[in-house]
Amino acid sequence: MMRETLVEPKDKRESRERLPVLLPLPFPGPLDYLPPSVGDIPEPGTLVRVPLGRREETGCVWDVDSTVPPDLAAPPGPAIDVRRLRPIRATLDIPRLPQSLRRFVDWLAAYTLTPPGLVLAMALRACNTDTPRPRLGWTRGETDPADIRMTPARARVLGALGNAPRSTGDLASLADASPAVIRGMAAIGLLRETPLPPEAHFATLDPAFNPPVLSPGQAEVAQELRAGVDARCFSATLLEGVTGSGKTEVYLEAVAEALRQGRQVLVLLPEIALSAQWAERFTKRFGAQAAIWHSDLGTKRRRITWRAVLDGQARVVVGARSALFLPFVDLGLIVVDEEHDTAFKQEDGVTYHGRDMAVVRARLADVPIVLASATPSLETVANVEAGRYRHLHLADRHGGALMPDVELLDMRTHPPERGLFLSPVLTDAIEQSFARGEQAMLFLNRRGYAPLTLCRACGFRMECPNCSAWLVEHRVRHELACHHCGHTEPMPPTCPGCQAENSLVPIGPGIERILEESRARFPDARILVMASDTLGSPQATAEAVRQISAREVDLIIGTQIVAKGWHFPHLTLVGVVDADLGLGGGDLRAAERTVQLLHQVAGRAGRAEAPGHVFLQSYVCEHPVMKALVSGDYQGFLAQEAAQRRPGFWPPYGRLAALIVSAHTAEAADRLARTIGEHAPRIPGVQILGPAPAPLALLRGRHRRRLLLRAPRNIAVQPILRHWLAGLRTASQEKVEIDIDPVSF
Ligand code: ADP
Ligand code: ZN
Repeated sequence: MMRETLVEPKDKRESRERLPVLLPLPFPGPLDYLPPSVGDIPEPGTLVRVPLGRREETGCVWDVDSTVPPDLAAPPGPAIDVRRLRPIRATLDIPRLPQSLRRFVDWLAAYTLTPPGLVLAMALRACNTDTPRPRLGWTRGETDPADIRMTPARARVLGALGNAPRSTGDLASLADASPAVIRGMAAIGLLRETPLPPEAHFATLDPAFNPPVLSPGQAEVAQELRAGVDARCFSATLLEGVTGSGKTEVYLEAVAEALRQGRQVLVLLPEIALSAQWAERFTKRFGAQAAIWHSDLGTKRRRITWRAVLDGQARVVVGARSALFLPFVDLGLIVVDEEHDTAFKQEDGVTYHGRDMAVVRARLADVPIVLASATPSLETVANVEAGRYRHLHLADRHGGALMPDVELLDMRTHPPERGLFLSPVLTDAIEQSFARGEQAMLFLNRRGYAPLTLCRACGFRMECPNCSAWLVEHRVRHELACHHCGHTEPMPPTCPGCQAENSLVPIGPGIERILEESRARFPDARILVMASDTLGSPQATAEAVRQISAREVDLIIGTQIVAKGWHFPHLTLVGVVDADLGLGGGDLRAAERTVQLLHQVAGRAGRAEAPGHVFLQSYVCEHPVMKALVSGDYQGFLAQEAAQRRPGFWPPYGRLAALIVSAHTAEAADRLARTIGEHAPRIPGVQILGPAPAPLALLRGRHRRRLLLRAPRNIAVQPILRHWLAGLRTASQEKVEIDIDPVSF
């Protein structure tokens, strides 16, 4: 695989060129090396093995980047004397990392103030240097079976041969014969080895396999999107349309166009659980599967997929945000579905927003990007208003289906019975849907039994020892759990505060408690719970969705996983148990997020044959969020949001960065945050807010403080931050993390 190179005498080296090599490590930039041998200059993008101290590392030959704006780029490091440089040991025999990916790594690193090597590490995580071996299978050989002693096993193998070649594994299991029998038959010419067609995931996709008949409105939009793909240059388009209007159907036409041109497509979904239903639909449309990419994929599958993308074999990849780092060689289109979803934001490690970085990726690859949503983010709408994005609109649900009717259920006037959480108005309505043979769904974005356990005698609250958060009771698992750090403990027999017995009581509902209440109220109903912790895998989710579609379920109780783009044809009633839930906490984006989430939940109800009805249980019926949900006037709601954010330069009308300062003690965190605050730059128009306790002031045992930097859009925050933090010294337990464009503020 590798071409080894001998180290040459020192004097020869001076005449050689220095080559920057980016390593997947937290250095400020690439390190310089000498070429592997005189005259052998590997091109940028070549993967190489280089010495580093006493180790050897895989890196990528890098090139000078001219696409990162100068005010974003990190200053270059000091140049090392060429005589001290060491040569590259070997170049790897695989295709080079494409230029558009290299530029993306640079850009993302500069924008998020991350060492570029750490971004490269994400791109190389599944790096596969193996040469893909052609897969081989068996067909009938030259030898006439009549000339051979035929055993029952051999006869079964011959009988199991199909028109297309079959792999050893398939043949062995179909014929119930051992691989040794198959090899023996090959040796005497009864079987012949032939290449197998490519794996289903990388098989040829046929853009003409099963195209839909589009409505005139859909056809118009599809035509616009196809034209975008044909233009073969960057453009960004918001594809807006209520749930069920055919956004997916329409953007698949853009995918088809890219396929006709033989180019690759990346489709990003916010939730991997969605990928199974999406993939099934994709297969129906194109006659073969899309390659799936997410972090739960097995190592082997990931390596195969990574390589198939680099070799150009995988034409369409559907995946989570990490698919942005795949080495597409001939990208022709990017689609971000449910673009408003905050699940696109990566909060651990390298902090970036998948949707925003998808736009950057598209720009650097010079390809169109389509952002689809029923409730677009204010960011995207602002980009449309500023003329940066095109706006295409699908006005109606496909096939004449109506949008569900949303009704506010004022819990002050229609309270549930004592100790319960569902208003009789809602439970009566559910009963009636069952009577009509229809499905109902209860939505509550809270896992577990109860979000708070309180002592009735002394008021003691069960809190996480590592986080500023209450412990959530999970009655099924007999434990209390922290949803932030994973800490669990058994329910104590007595109150830890006053030692009273039997005094700890659950306060408020989680879905387990709603399940309990529903079982008592609807003893005959078939109930299915959908939550991220009850549906462990995409397969389990797919099975749940199948049961719902097959009407094996009457009542669905779910957390936000049910809000995503599912199609539940028999679901006509949705009850939102606590519509006010997301509104607390003083986050400026809370209202937008709540409207998006609840609108999405509501969109699950109703199809052409049976219009849907949605109940929102609320104690704040006069809240603008509730009004927007009832009126369905999303545009009007966004206009209000914009009016609130614009004067203060809050995103998207200004730039925002968060500094999260953390330490092992509250004092150390305060001290460090204060020091950083005192050194804040004074720049006209730029405001520093805080330090203040971070939204989770204690998280996984770390005390956290937050500073916010807010600036008008025409000021780049990266150089300010770089300058601000340049001289900062932190002790070993102290940390300063930068979050550019934080999702909550
Ligand atoms: P969205 O992505 O906007 O929620 P979809 O594309 O998923 O909408 O369409 C909603 C449902 O309507 C899907 O079941 C889809 O197959 C169906 N549908 C939409 N447009 C058409 C069409 N032109 N022909 C047939 N079915 C369609
Ligand atoms: Zn915790």
